[in-house]
Amino acid sequence: MTLVHNWQIGRKMDYPYFESRPERQFAAVFNTNRCIACQTCTMADKSTWLYSRGQEYMWWNNVETKPYGGYPQHWDVKTLALLSNNGENPLTWSTEKDDKDNKKSPYGLYEGETIFEAAKTRNLNQWAIGYIPTDKEWRFPNIDEDAAASEKMNNELQVAQEYSTLPVHKRWFFYLARLCNHCTYPGCLAACPRRAIYKRKEDGIVLIDQKRCRGYRKCVEQCPYKKTMYRAQTRVTEKCVACYPRIEGKDPITSGRPMETRCMSACVGKIRMQGFLDDNPKNPITWLVKHHKVALPLYPQFGTEPNVYYIPPRWAPRAYLRQMFGPEVEAAIEKYTAPSRELLAILQLFRTTQTIIYEYRIEQGPKVYETTINGKKWEYYNDTAIGLAKDGTELVRLTVEEPTYESPKERLNSI
Ligand code: SF4
Ligand code: SF4
Repeated sequence: MTLVHNWQIGRKMDYPYFESRPERQFAAVFNTNRCIACQTCTMADKSTWLYSRGQEYMWWNNVETKPYGGYPQHWDVKTLALLSNNGENPLTWSTEKDDKDNKKSPYGLYEGETIFEAAKTRNLNQWAIGYIPTDKEWRFPNIDEDAAASEKMNNELQVAQEYSTLPVHKRWFFYLARLCNHCTYPGCLAACPRRAIYKRKEDGIVLIDQKRCRGYRKCVEQCPYKKTMYRAQTRVTEKCVACYPRIEGKDPITSGRPMETRCMSACVGKIRMQGFLDDNPKNPITWLVKHHKVALPLYPQFGTEPNVYYIPPRWAPRAYLRQMFGPEVEAAIEKYTAPSRELLAILQLFRTTQTIIYEYRIEQGPKVYETTINGKKWEYYNDTAIGLAKDGTELVRLTVEEPTYESPKERLNSI
């Protein structure tokens, strides 16, 4: 093991390979508040990559209903239970010890063990803790769709008190769209005894070399998100390839410019924005994740530094969300509930172009509305959000207020 820095847990941690970050990291932001579980993303992925024999059960992209849904079934509950080891490894965070503005620990300090550290402490003779799901657990990609949290779960979470602050529903559920996180410290890559899994230097995409893989399924065991899938027909394992030909700009539609993946560009609910995490504060992904911290990683305590980030749902109990997205979740929801001018403008850019937006600009417009949110004054400006391509070309321009058009008299609906 070597020591590497994991900014999501705010500290160094054990990992089998040296720290090596790509030039820019494939990343995405999902606004969970907008997902309608239409599964268009799931089918876009399926029809592009997963239509052959042996791939019937594979869904590299899936959308599950939380708290009960999961593909494979119970993947998160099982991994959390393994990691916590009956409470011997308390999955706690300290938000006091550290300066949260410190870029090295923006969410505070994770005090528990990651999947890599737990394997070492428990002398497991493997790089990360994990398990191989049973065949049955892979059988139902959308089990428990729209099943709301039960009274029992609410009692266990001790969220009865929180109902008073959840404005609409006493019952709750939300949709969680998932794909491979193209982690900075992938569990799958660490686990592979054949070194068949690699992370690309140019964009951080994690791929399995199909010629080197022998189907030992160590990656299936040690990816905590369960996003590597074994194919019995070929006897090798497969995973999301991040539609890399599109990312490389090989699709003619975007004239050589990097293009969003199939699942992202198909999103009907406009919940997704995909691009790269880099150091440019005017990159919308970097701004949402690193600067504004409104989009958070999924289970950062696993320690893989996942690169799909979520704007957390507003209507779910905070205790549930904290264990899922970490200690910044309340702050993120607050920012989303009363969005700043900049956030509101950037949110307009979601799903407006298939070409990857590298930079945004905002042109200020007039104030159009004013109200009070959570006891504080909130103002609404009709700013214009502009998305720019890698070469600086303007891709898209939208005002915050959707323009309305009146049909001329001769086109009036006569019904
Ligand atoms: S989500 Fe799983 S399969 Fe994807 S890079 Fe991370 S560890 Fe590997
Ligand atoms: S296409 Fe978008 S809105 Fe529909 S299920 Fe997928 S992520 Fe949700």
